[in-house]
Amino acid sequence: MSRVYNFSAGPAVLPEEVLKEAAAEMLDYNGTGMSVMEMSHRSKAFEEIIRTAEADIRELMNIPDNYKVLFLQGGASQQFAMIPMNLMKNGVADYIVTGQWAKKAYQEAQKYGKANKIASSEDKTFSYIPDCSDLPISEDADYVYICENNTIYGTKYKELPNTKGKTLVADVSSCFLSEPVDVSKYGVIYGGVQKNVGPAGVVIVIIREDLITEDVLPGTPTMLQYKTHADANSLYNTPPAYGIYICGKVFKWLKKQGGLAAMKEKNEKKAKLLYDFLDQSKLFKGTVEPKDRSLMNVPFVTGDKELDAKFVKEAKEAGFENLKGHRTVGGMRASIYNAMPYEGVEALVEFMKKFEEENL
Ligand code: PMP
Repeated sequence: MSRVYNFSAGPAVLPEEVLKEAAAEMLDYNGTGMSVMEMSHRSKAFEEIIRTAEADIRELMNIPDNYKVLFLQGGASQQFAMIPMNLMKNGVADYIVTGQWAKKAYQEAQKYGKANKIASSEDKTFSYIPDCSDLPISEDADYVYICENNTIYGTKYKELPNTKGKTLVADVSSCFLSEPVDVSKYGVIYGGVQKNVGPAGVVIVIIREDLITEDVLPGTPTMLQYKTHADANSLYNTPPAYGIYICGKVFKWLKKQGGLAAMKEKNEKKAKLLYDFLDQSKLFKGTVEPKDRSLMNVPFVTGDKELDAKFVKEAKEAGFENLKGHRTVGGMRASIYNAMPYEGVEALVEFMKKFEEENL
């Protein structure tokens, strides 16, 4: 068996240990004589899987008791609608547009109320995070929305915006569990798990209890109401059971790694290796304002499209997969999530050095 170094932005690399455990339990989970895929979501065994997963993410993120943790479906994209449908009580929300995912959320919210774009970094192809210390927050805004780590462009908020007392809602899909966060600063934190946490099909929503009400937009489907899922502890209907089981294993793995503070340290070390190389390279260069660089997604270019394509092709042949940049921006992007080992980044940098020598 040979595994590649997978730099995909998502679905993405998972810890090998987790995959092996899942493989060993594939035919018989914990003496049940069946796979978790075959198991009733109302069974005792699954009940324990989902409750343990919840307890572990609560411990990892130090989630206060007045927040619910929901395991949902529909991808992060479904939250673009669910958030305004559930939270726009005044029909107003402020959006900070720092990339395509924030833009999509902003556009979706316009269907349900007045969504204001209060800041944007589109003027420079989303290569930076705007100054959010004194934004024109709307008096009657129900919430302020951000995408905390911009997967496509490789930027990350190093400081949360000053929302002037308004509820902060954050899409953390591509930085989920990569470093400690202070959950109490947010009303809602959510993310699709397929980057840093598990397989595609699960979205985790961490939401403050006072935001979960019956007072939602008229016509909001039952399945799109947070209250439905909160009241039923994420078991209103059949949840993405196997995905939740893998997420649970990743939570255990993260605890074993030393938790989120330890992950941050590891992630900083990995990212530094790559950014330091880019900063001194005569061929490659990073595309992001250094102060706003993501620890998770590292976009870079040679400045020559043909050379970029040659790099991606040769990298693939050498066992470095999915280094092509997002189809809308081109160039390259290395996603170096929690489960990417330091050795993977080291090997990539060595390969880039060699490529530079051969192609300068
Ligand atoms: N938000 C962010 C930050 C993302 O990176 C992505 C997907 N790559 C999405 C939202 C959309 O996620 P999904 O495909 O789960 O709807």
